[in-house]
Amino acid sequence: MPLFGGIEAGGTKFACAIGTEAGDIRASVRFPTRDPASTIAEAAAFFQAHPEPISAVGIASFGPIDPRLGSPTYGYITSTPKKGWAHTPIAAVIGDRLGVPVAFDTDVNAAALAEHLWGAARGRDTCLYLTVGTGIGGGALVQGRRLHGALHPEMGHVFVPRAPGDTFDGCCPFHGDCLEGMASGPAISARWGQDGASLPASHTAWKYEAHYLGLAIIGFVLTLAPEIVILGGGVMHQQQLFPMIRQMVQSRLRGYYQVPAITSAIDTYIVPPTLGDNAGMLGGIALASAVA
Ligand code: ADP
Ligand code: ZN
Repeated sequence: MPLFGGIEAGGTKFACAIGTEAGDIRASVRFPTRDPASTIAEAAAFFQAHPEPISAVGIASFGPIDPRLGSPTYGYITSTPKKGWAHTPIAAVIGDRLGVPVAFDTDVNAAALAEHLWGAARGRDTCLYLTVGTGIGGGALVQGRRLHGALHPEMGHVFVPRAPGDTFDGCCPFHGDCLEGMASGPAISARWGQDGASLPASHTAWKYEAHYLGLAIIGFVLTLAPEIVILGGGVMHQQQLFPMIRQMVQSRLRGYYQVPAITSAIDTYIVPPTLGDNAGMLGGIALASAVA
């Protein structure tokens, strides 16, 4: 059975895996993200050291990226504020090193694909995957296809009305108080002076979090009509957020959007990822198996 490589290129860490098109992982490695040259070299070395060859590699990358085939900067990480990483031709470097076809997409589009093939979104052709971590990002499959277009979705940077009483300025370097600026992990730390992981479940931080995420999700649901919404990323380890966000979505939609999953089974509509921390690298394997 042919083997495929998957790379989750994250701003904090890289995760690489070798697996089958059925999503069986045969080997994997994780290491911190450093400068582009040494980090990409370490990823390539992992695949080269494996005794069996891979047929293709898929890169699920932090962004913004250029996923437009035929564009002069296709396969680049483009205008990222992450130091040293702007304008990095990651797909070409990996392809040259490994000599195999390369598939390339956002980490969240790839995670949506992996959850569709092997996880919570099985059987749902239109699904949304949102990550709430160092940044906020959303990816989607729409009628079975990963959502692209002018570029790719950048759902973390939409603007949402302020939560009553929230005076925080926001921490997005581009927009200040966009969704990411108000509700990412760093936004929580900056607003409250401590990491979200150390705040109690009853803290006001989570009311604000449910407000921003709930209102943004309403916008995404009304725009994309997903059949399921998957919420991943470090901040969503706060399990108490799920019922709070579901309640926000239901109450603010006010029964307007007549989808039984939302009006009467929202516990199965807004859900955690099934693939957990493996969603990104499995997404890479899924991308690779489609280009080989
Ligand atoms: P990345 O975004 O780099 O891929 P994560 O999804 O793990 O990584 O997100 C990291 C962010 O999530 C950090 O800002 C961290 O403070 C926050 N975070 C991680 N774990 C928790 C937790 N249990 N509760 C709240 N926030 C968390
Ligand atoms: Zn922003």
